[in-house]
Amino acid sequence: MKSWVNYSEDSDFSIYNIPFGIFSQDGSSPRIGSAIGDSVIDLRAVAKLGVFDSLNISAKIWDEDYLNAFIALGKSVTSKVRTVLQNELANDASILKDHPEVFIAMSAVKMHLPVQVGDYTDFYSSIEHATNVGKLFRDPENALLPNWKHLPVGYHGRASSIIVSGVDIHRPKGQTKPADADPVYGPCRLLDFELEMGFIIGKDSSLGSSVSTEEANDYIFGKVLFNDWSARDIQKWEYVPLGPFLGKSFASSVSAWVVTLEALEPFRVDGPTQEPEVLPYLQYSGKANIDIKLEVLIQPESGEENVISESNFKYMYWNMQQQLAHHTVNGCNVRVGDLLASGTISGKDEKSYGSMLEISQAGKKSLTLKDGSERKFIKDNDYVIMRGYSEKDGMRVGFGELKSKVLPAL
Ligand code: CA
Repeated sequence: MKSWVNYSEDSDFSIYNIPFGIFSQDGSSPRIGSAIGDSVIDLRAVAKLGVFDSLNISAKIWDEDYLNAFIALGKSVTSKVRTVLQNELANDASILKDHPEVFIAMSAVKMHLPVQVGDYTDFYSSIEHATNVGKLFRDPENALLPNWKHLPVGYHGRASSIIVSGVDIHRPKGQTKPADADPVYGPCRLLDFELEMGFIIGKDSSLGSSVSTEEANDYIFGKVLFNDWSARDIQKWEYVPLGPFLGKSFASSVSAWVVTLEALEPFRVDGPTQEPEVLPYLQYSGKANIDIKLEVLIQPESGEENVISESNFKYMYWNMQQQLAHHTVNGCNVRVGDLLASGTISGKDEKSYGSMLEISQAGKKSLTLKDGSERKFIKDNDYVIMRGYSEKDGMRVGFGELKSKVLPAL
C-alpha cells in the first residue's frame, strides 16, 4: 500500500496504521481524528464529503469528546472506517486530494484523552519484572509467588486520574515509613515510572458471563502506551495486605492515539511457553503476543533526551486474551472504554528494565545522564518519555510519544 500523502519512512503514522484519537484546534471543541504522517485527519470533515456514507454513521459521532460512542459502533463499523480511509489515502483519484482542509498539522492541534475510562485494571504480567521485584523485596531464591504462573495477577486501579500525554503531574505527597523511625508525611522521594501498554475494551460483556480466550480479541478495540506512575516509598509502606493504593492512584498517563488491534495484526508473534500448563479457561491458540519495540527516555528540564530502557511488548508472559478471560471468569462484566494495562514490561537484560526500581536496583545504583547528572528515581522537572512501534516488511505502525513532566509537589 502506498499513499499519495508524503511522510517519512520512520513515521509511526503510516498508511498501515490509521489510529483514532481526539483533537481540538484553536480552542474549538474536541472531535475525532485519525493520523497520517505529520497530519491529523479531521474525520468530521471527511464524513461531510460523503466518504463514509455507506456505513450509516450518525454525524454527531464525529463531534464526541471521547471515542467511546465511536468504539461502541462495533468493529464491523470501526474497522470499515479504517479501511475506507486507507483506500482513500491510497487512491490517486480520492476526493480527499481536493480537500486539503481535511489534513491539519499535528503541531497545530491539541490532543485530548482519547477514551472516557470507566474502569481501569492493572496486571503484573511480565515474568522478568515480577522476578526482579520479587528478588528486590522478597526472596531472591523464590522471587515469584506461588500463584504467579497459574493466573495473571492484577488489581483494580483508579480511572479518574488517567491523563493524556502532555499533561504534567505533580510529585505526589503521602505517608511513608523511614527505616527505624515513625511514619512521616511529605512529598514522595522515590517517584518512578512503569513502562506498560494498555488495551481499550471495544464491546460490553454482560454481568455473570465470561469472555473466553477465543472471543477476547473481539472485545479489544486497540492499544495505547501507558505510564503507571508509582511512588515507591508510599507503595512500600501501604501495600500490605491489600495491594497498591495511593502509591499508584495519583496519576497514570496514556498516549493520545489508540492504535487498533487490526493495525497490529501483522506483527503478531508466538508467546512464551507457559510451564506449568495453565487451566483450560486460560488456554489459547495462535500467536497471542505482539512485537512492539518500546523505549523509555528521561529528559531533564533543559537537557537532552536519554534513552534509559529498550524493551518489547512481545516479552509478556500472560497475553491480553488470557488477561481478559481471567478478568471475566468470575462473571465480572467489562464495558466499552475500560482500560486494562499490561503491568511493567521488562526484558531479560538490564537495558530492558521497565522501571527505575529495577534499573537502580531499588536505589543502589545510579544512572548517569548525558548532562552528568545522576538518577536513581525521577527528579522534579524531568520529562519521562515513552515510545513504541512495530515494524516489518516495510510496514511501520507506531504510537507516537507519551511525554509527561514531573512538577514539584504542590
Ligand atoms: Ca503497574
